[in-house]
Amino acid sequence: MKVLVLNCGSSSIKYQFFDTVEKLALAKGVVERIGMSSAVLSHSRYDGDGIKIVGEILDHAIAIEYVLGVMLSKNHGVIDSKEDIEAVGHRVVHGGETFTDSILITDEVMQVLQDNIELAPLHNPPNIKGVQAVKRILPNVPQCAVFDTAFHTKMPMKSFLYGIPYELYKKHKIRKYGFHGTSHSYVAHKAAEILGKNYKELKIVTAHLGNGCSMAAIKNGISIDTSMGFTPLEGLLMGTRSGDLDPSLILYIMGKEGLSLNEAGTLLNKHSGLIGISGVSSDMRELITAIKEGNKRAQVAFDIFCYRIKKYLGSYAAAMGGIDVFVFTGGIGENSPEVREEVCKDMSFLGIQLDVEKNLRKEEIISKEGSLVPILRIPTNEELVIALDTNKIVEESKVKN
Ligand code: AMP
Repeated sequence: MKVLVLNCGSSSIKYQFFDTVEKLALAKGVVERIGMSSAVLSHSRYDGDGIKIVGEILDHAIAIEYVLGVMLSKNHGVIDSKEDIEAVGHRVVHGGETFTDSILITDEVMQVLQDNIELAPLHNPPNIKGVQAVKRILPNVPQCAVFDTAFHTKMPMKSFLYGIPYELYKKHKIRKYGFHGTSHSYVAHKAAEILGKNYKELKIVTAHLGNGCSMAAIKNGISIDTSMGFTPLEGLLMGTRSGDLDPSLILYIMGKEGLSLNEAGTLLNKHSGLIGISGVSSDMRELITAIKEGNKRAQVAFDIFCYRIKKYLGSYAAAMGGIDVFVFTGGIGENSPEVREEVCKDMSFLGIQLDVEKNLRKEEIISKEGSLVPILRIPTNEELVIALDTNKIVEESKVKN
């Protein structure tokens, strides 16, 4: 099946067009600066051909028209007609408690997505806009939603409830949801496949380290705990997000600095984490360059980043009664030998022993020969998961009808 995968953000749309039989991305690209001056569409084809188009792209519908235009174009395209797109799969950030799996989008589903906006006010509205735009442009093409939260919906209550009055969970749906589920699920399955083991019999810790960072404890195929929470702010230190902190300090800072609720949210989500501590950058590459130049604050930011990962690793080993596999993924997890080395340092008490040479060579299995716990470096591929899920759901719906 030929599936267009869309990841619609507030001012950008990332896309990939898949042949799900070959598991091959025939084309991919991104539209940036939607609604701003000089929006840019960067498109590349599987054979390396690429093009950049600058234009006036006022909204998500126009952006999708541009994407279809370039996919149909004689010189850079991959399809002959719009009918070649058999299904569209959307990355949707928040499925709340309702969506425990990917789903075919119907009017009822759209209503629940609307109801969940409160839970993800920054992310769900552009996801919904994307679905609505496709419905207008490709009215007969089935669309599926694949949720970041779905993989974590089987967490036990002791993992997902916060220590606040239970009524608030019932009234406002306040609980840990967890995110990056598609990525955690993909790399955990892939790790089992690489090791030739049964996924359902493993205790796996996955570390998705990118601009946003989260870890998951996956026992016998179920995510039993994860570091992100009610929102993607909880847990590890991230590029611009604080991760875990004492909730009282938010009230304290608001009082001391005279911040509004919105300003406090911006402080914790946009000006904290690696950038907030280092004052240098939210990008791990720039941070490492600054460390090499002797920047002490960059070093502290790096140390906190790795220390948090170590602490979660230890706590997940305790939660699962051990670890069988440890996986790094995401832009930092896949590309930074420095972070992987620091995280795995002095962890042999848990059976985790990194092979420094394999780590530097960016091999797939980067643990020492005798390490009880294999350590893997696996590039994530959330878009492929979305395409395959969409394919499955659309095929199943055809059978039902
Ligand atoms: P992602 O959100 O998964 O695309 O990851 C983005 C982050 O990956 C960037 O902010 C960088 O900090 C990080 N990154 C990408 N390449 C490298 C690299 N070669 N070394 C260290 N960090 C990297």
